[in-house]
Amino acid sequence: MADAVILKQGRDKPFEQGHPWIFSGAIQQIPDVDNGEIVDVRSHAGHWLGRGYLNRRSQIQVRLLSWKQDEAINADFWRRRLATAVENRAGLVDFAQTDAVRLVNGENDFLPGLVVDRFGDYLVLQSGTLGIDLRKEQIADMLLSLTGCRGIVERSEFSLRREEGLAEASGLLAGELPEDMVTVRELGLRFQVDLLRGQKTGFYIDQRVNRARVATYSQGARVLNAFAYTGAFGIHALAAGADQIVNVDSSVEALKVGEENLRLNGFDPDEQESIVADVFEILRDWWEVENERFDVIVLDPPKFANNKRQVDGALRGYKDINLLALRLLKPGGILATFSCSGLVEADLFQKVVFGAAVDARREVQILEWLRQSPDHPVAITFPEGAYLKGLICRVGA
Ligand code: SAH
Repeated sequence: MADAVILKQGRDKPFEQGHPWIFSGAIQQIPDVDNGEIVDVRSHAGHWLGRGYLNRRSQIQVRLLSWKQDEAINADFWRRRLATAVENRAGLVDFAQTDAVRLVNGENDFLPGLVVDRFGDYLVLQSGTLGIDLRKEQIADMLLSLTGCRGIVERSEFSLRREEGLAEASGLLAGELPEDMVTVRELGLRFQVDLLRGQKTGFYIDQRVNRARVATYSQGARVLNAFAYTGAFGIHALAAGADQIVNVDSSVEALKVGEENLRLNGFDPDEQESIVADVFEILRDWWEVENERFDVIVLDPPKFANNKRQVDGALRGYKDINLLALRLLKPGGILATFSCSGLVEADLFQKVVFGAAVDARREVQILEWLRQSPDHPVAITFPEGAYLKGLICRVGA
C-alpha cells in the first residue's frame, strides 16, 4: 500500500466514477517514485481505485489511465488504447470526402494529455503532460504502424505544458516530414495545412460539422468570416452558393493560406475580401460605414478564458463581439457565434448572446445549438471535454 497514492478521506467518489484528474488537494500521500511514472491510487481506507501517471509539479498530480486492477500499463496497454481510438473514428467520417480527423482526443479517449490529428498521410501529436512526454516516441511509432501514415510531427504548445513544468516542443517524431503543406479534404473541399507552422495542430477540425451547418444559410449571402484563420467557414459557404466572403483575421500568414485555399477550390481570391485586422476594431469601425452590412456573420474567436481568473474578461469579450456583429447584420441575417472556452459553459454563453441582443436592440431567435464534431467525443465521465459551443441565430428587424 505504501507504493500507492493515497487519497484524503471522502475524496474517492469522482475517481470511482471514472473522472481522470486527481488534484493535489485530494491527495494525502504520494509514494517515492519519479514524476511521470505509473502509480496505483487508493482510497484513504486502502481500497484500490485506479492507475495513472504522476506529476508532482502539476496541479493535477495524477491522471488516471485505467480503472481495472488487473490491467497493466505497458506497451500493450498503449497500443490497445490507441487502436480503439483510431478504430472508433472509422464510421464517423467518410474518408473519401474527409481526411482531416482527430484520432485521439485526450481524456475523452481515455488517453489523458494526448491529442492526435490526422491530416491526409500525416499525423500531428500534441503532448500536454509529462506522462505522455516520456512515452511519446513509443506512442508515435505505434500510431504510424496503426494508421500506415508516412510521418508524425509534434506540436506541443507551451500554454498547455507550462503547468506541467515542460517547455514547448515541436518537430518530427517518427517517419518523414511532408515536403510542403499537406492538402486535406473536408467534406469534399480542399484545404492546405501547415503542419509545422500552422496554429494548434494546423487546422481547426472541431468545426467541420458546424461549417456545413453554417453553409446551409449562406446561399446568395455576403458572409463575414470573422476570426477566419485559413478561411474554412468561408469556403464551405461559397461552395453552398454564397455571393461573397469577407475574411478577417489578425494573422497575415493564415489569410495567405486562406487565399490558396480559395484557389484550390476553384474560387478567385480577387472576388473575395481578406482583411488583416483586429475583429473588435473593424466591427466597431464598420458601424459607421453604411455599406458594410452582412447577411451572415461567423464569429469564431480563439479561446478567451484559459483559467478561472480570465472568465469575467472572456465574457466581456464575447458580449462585445456579439453586440458589434448583431448591429452589422441585415434584417433577417444570420449570426453563427462560437466559443471554444471550456470554462464558459453553453448556457452561460447563451446568456451572453442574450445580453448582446438586448443591448443591440435586435430581435434574435436561436435556430441551432452547435457543438464540436463527433471525432472530438466527450467522455461522459469528463464534462470538461465539452469545450466548443455555438449558436446559429436569426436576427429580425
Ligand atoms: N474560424 C477558423 C478558426 C479560428 S481560430 C477556422 O474555421 O479555421 C481563431 C483565429 O482568430 C486565429 O486565426 C487567430 O489568428 C485569430 N485572432 C485572434 N485574435 C484576433 C483578433 N483580435 N482579431 C482578429 N483575429 C484574431
